[in-house]
Amino acid sequence: MLTGVRIVVLGGDARQLEVIQKCAELDATVSVVGFDQLEQVIPGIEHRELKDEVFASADVLVLPVVSCDDQGKVSSSFSGEPIVLKKEHMAALPEHCTVFTGMAKPFLRELCEENGLRLVEVLDRDDIALYNSIPTAEGAIAIAIKETDFTIHGSECIVLGIGRTGFTLAKTLQGLGANVRVGIRRNEDVARATIMGWKPFMTTDLAAQTGEVDLLFNTIPTMIITAQILSRMPQKAVIIDLASAPGGCDFRYADKRGIKALLAPGLPGIVAPKTAGGIIADALIRLLLEEQNAREVKS
Ligand code: NAP
Repeated sequence: MLTGVRIVVLGGDARQLEVIQKCAELDATVSVVGFDQLEQVIPGIEHRELKDEVFASADVLVLPVVSCDDQGKVSSSFSGEPIVLKKEHMAALPEHCTVFTGMAKPFLRELCEENGLRLVEVLDRDDIALYNSIPTAEGAIAIAIKETDFTIHGSECIVLGIGRTGFTLAKTLQGLGANVRVGIRRNEDVARATIMGWKPFMTTDLAAQTGEVDLLFNTIPTMIITAQILSRMPQKAVIIDLASAPGGCDFRYADKRGIKALLAPGLPGIVAPKTAGGIIADALIRLLLEEQNAREVKS
């Protein structure tokens, strides 16, 4: 149980509702800021305004998955009012407070450092990235289905990178009956792909692979689908770039060649906010319970 733990949730989208609900169910004292337009009633929570005193008693400050921008602006799907995280708010947090987010922007990192606050970036963690790869893969496949007039079954699919996202995506495509090739750069990944029944190739040989491709998925966060690669690709091919912005595709040249190329960020929050929120909530709760246990062992 999280009895006595004071959690302040500042803004966010539908994913945050899972965090709020699960923490409240475990008896945490949950205060929310930036949810004034929320129609759903979540029992046992308190709606607050953005004032220093909200921060002063927080054990945990939960920010949206994307934290805030470089001016401190926090996005909220459930408020018409702008929410701006200020230096004074962060300075008002008690020293022991943990700041919890998906991925922090430099602005937030600096403020945490300045105030000696512990910052937890949950999307950094392997287990979270792995769980998140499931809605990401499903979202990528939903886009592929929407953007094509052929089945994934029997199609020629290439997945670039078989890290956490690429691996799950390749496996899901395979499950749908696609012929899956994967672009990798390490010999151990040749073995891993072979065991999985995918055809591996080195990304340095990508140009030789794209002559016959229906769907090209990228998870490599660097420019990899260059103009040179695109110039050899069939026009009917569709590229779905999952890598973080700006992605790994020369979108300008793809457009010029008439190849459909889409950058698809933030899929878990778009296609499965409930699942994605649940993943984040579970991570936060695990962290708080672990801290609680560690304190109990010490005392
Ligand atoms: P990851 O586990 O680190 O996997 C990245 C893969 O890219 C690894 O296979 C890595 O190979 C490969 N790679 C990196 N640089 C390379 C290079 N220069 N040449 C060849 N291969 C290279 O990361 P992830 O969690 O799968 O995430 C991948 C990307 O997707 C990130 O940009 C992440 O932010 C993004 N993402 C997007 C969504 C979405 O909704 N669109 C959701 C989750 C993640 P090695 O193992 O050899 O290093």
